[in-house]
Amino acid sequence: EDKLLDVVDLHVSFDTYGGRVHAVRGVNVSVKKGETLAIVGESGCGKSVTAQSIMRLIAEPPGKITNGEVLFKGQDILSFSEKKMRSIRGREISMIFQDPMTSLNPTLTIGDQLTEGLIKHQKLSLKEAGKRALSMLKLVGISNAKERLKQFPHQFSGGMRQRIMIAMALMCDPEILIADEPTTALDVTIQAQILDLFKDIQKKMGVAIIMITHDLGVVAQLADRIQVMYAGRVVEEGNRRDLFYRPQHPYTRGLLHSVPRMDADRNVPLVPIAGTPPDLFSPPIGCAFADRCAYAMEVCALHDPPKTEVASGHRVACWLQDVRAQQAFEAGELPM
Ligand code: SF4
Ligand code: MG
Repeated sequence: EDKLLDVVDLHVSFDTYGGRVHAVRGVNVSVKKGETLAIVGESGCGKSVTAQSIMRLIAEPPGKITNGEVLFKGQDILSFSEKKMRSIRGREISMIFQDPMTSLNPTLTIGDQLTEGLIKHQKLSLKEAGKRALSMLKLVGISNAKERLKQFPHQFSGGMRQRIMIAMALMCDPEILIADEPTTALDVTIQAQILDLFKDIQKKMGVAIIMITHDLGVVAQLADRIQVMYAGRVVEEGNRRDLFYRPQHPYTRGLLHSVPRMDADRNVPLVPIAGTPPDLFSPPIGCAFADRCAYAMEVCALHDPPKTEVASGHRVACWLQDVRAQQAFEAGELPM
């Protein structure tokens, strides 16, 4: 098997003054060598918490992974010591965040920051680490790389800083790169350039990418597979074609409506999905989307929708896909 990462039935909760929030409720994620998986959903859907769980970055307390496994090459990293985990972070699995300024140290040169890990943890010489830094800066499209290594973060534009963060994440040649909203803070032109860069990197380095985003448009060109999350669960997953051309879950369809189309009139406002996600202090018993769903039936609020595989690898958690709901309705056994 070329399976690199397998997250199985992950549950994560947070204790707050308002009570316990069930942020992630039974999520599965699997990533193969060299593929790009996108995890898409509104803020608060649990996508970032899922990513942080994979990196074991959930602060405990208030957070807690209450159930599940995170298998990296078959080993459950949730059982690793913090010391062993440090040898995974950055080297095997790397992560970049939305705002590169908060992750870069303003008082150190780019060169120092890029080489720090290699010198400290991998015991590379200054010269070897410098060579690697130079080639990584070139890879991410920063010209004059030799001069640039001596500069500080504030001497770079937002887009350039994100390129540096990507270079930093790739320094140790990781197998998985997790990018949490990597283009959200950037303007549209720069966004497109950074997305192209991800494609390019993947081709050259063969790294698997997990792209976390609230914007389906961002992953249209990039993702091999897409998982749509809502209220702590995956509601639909499939390859890019299935999700864009044959979306089945009412929530996915709603998200697609809010993706701006290149050929569309720019003045037409996007149609957001009316309503807000449920609060996750006491998650709903049935379908979490029921309050916002134009197709909701009575069964939706009473029972959790089962997952139906509508095509190979294309799974949907919605009662509309389940023939039993229709049959029971016709037999008068189920209120719809
Ligand atoms: Fe809508 Fe029901 Fe499907 Fe949920 S299960 S998305 S409420 S039709
Ligand atoms: Mg987030």
